[in-house]
Amino acid sequence: MESKVRLVLKRNEEKRLRGGHLWIFSNEVDTQRSPMAEFSAGQVVDVFDHDGKALGSALVNPHSLICARLISRKAGVKPTPGWFKKRLKRALELRESRDDNNGHPHHNGRCYRMVYSESDGLPGLIIDRYDTVLVGQLNTVGMDALRPVIEKALVDLLDPAAILWRNDSQIRELEGLEREVISGPGTLPDSVELLENDLKFTLALDQGQKTGWYFDQRANRERVAPLLAQCEEVLDLYSYQGAWGIAAAKAGAKKVLCVDSSESAVDAIPGHAKANGVDAHVSAVKANAERYMDSLLEEKARFDAIIVDPPAFAPRAKDVGQALKAYRRLNEKALRLLNPGGLLVSMTCSAHIHEERYESLLLQAARHIDRDIQVLMRLEQGPDHPVHPAIPESRYLKGRLIRVLPSF
Ligand code: SAH
Repeated sequence: MESKVRLVLKRNEEKRLRGGHLWIFSNEVDTQRSPMAEFSAGQVVDVFDHDGKALGSALVNPHSLICARLISRKAGVKPTPGWFKKRLKRALELRESRDDNNGHPHHNGRCYRMVYSESDGLPGLIIDRYDTVLVGQLNTVGMDALRPVIEKALVDLLDPAAILWRNDSQIRELEGLEREVISGPGTLPDSVELLENDLKFTLALDQGQKTGWYFDQRANRERVAPLLAQCEEVLDLYSYQGAWGIAAAKAGAKKVLCVDSSESAVDAIPGHAKANGVDAHVSAVKANAERYMDSLLEEKARFDAIIVDPPAFAPRAKDVGQALKAYRRLNEKALRLLNPGGLLVSMTCSAHIHEERYESLLLQAARHIDRDIQVLMRLEQGPDHPVHPAIPESRYLKGRLIRVLPSF
């Protein structure tokens, strides 16, 4: 992993990097001085501006539009286990400080997103921690090539019982990588215990989605669930394994209905509800959420709170137009299903949709059916998913807690 090869940028193409960004696009490279054909996938290179000033060290993928990602502002960095250990430790310190700081009222075990890619200075690397078990994703060629080094650093730092690589996300295809699930060091237990805001969940990690849990919503659930205490009827749409719905029931909501199209996610909900003593209050159905809303509207069903937390409708910038229409339609249906005074938790995890745009979409949906709304809270990914201020895509989760005003 010697960084012998120089990657030289065209004149003025260093500005974004100097401004804080970490990505280099293939059209920014001076291919006369540093032909892409000289690079191998996953190689570590030193990056220079046109005048020869060093900008840092990067991992290269000559076959991708984003052809290099900075891992350090220093040239000559070798991503050894020791170097990774320092980066991982820096990331871990943030997560470990959180639960103990400020008299944090709830317990979360040692369960969190431990490494969040660019935001933690490790582009392409995701690691979620379930106390002694780590589940990761290697989403770039560079990180994929460094898997043995990363595993060594993780073992050295945390001595985990097991490491599982859920390398089955779609992003890998953009990098020309296979989609696969592979076991790292250790033996994966059949299930792991997750603690979230004092609630207990037992997860089978090789079966769930992504890395197994949507940690990004933990802080939102913590803030919003107490406001659902008085609700008679709650609808948790796109519920996955029921984290929102069970939090609502635990807070005091009488009747919670979770809806998700994934059979394995829905199957896990009764067990989770029971483990938290709310099985009498929570039910779950496997269904397409939008079609299910249509049938609820036909039955004239009404709810006191609805959570709408769909998958990303705009994973790519070019999907934004279609996605806005879909979000608008869904939220309008949800608003129709709410009693006067009802609460709507409306989320988008599309990196390319800006939150102001999303808020105005919610307003439009409400006005279209002649409702007035109030925004009670801005919701966002929790602090274990820190935002990289130069990379807007790193702020992917946003939403609003809305109250529908009773009219008179
Ligand atoms: N609310 C969950 C996370 C939701 S992720 C939590 O906080 O844990 C999005 C979920 O939408 C996934 O569980 C996926 O299975 C589900 N999904 C995708 N398309 C769907 C559809 N058309 N109808 C219902 N659920 C869908």
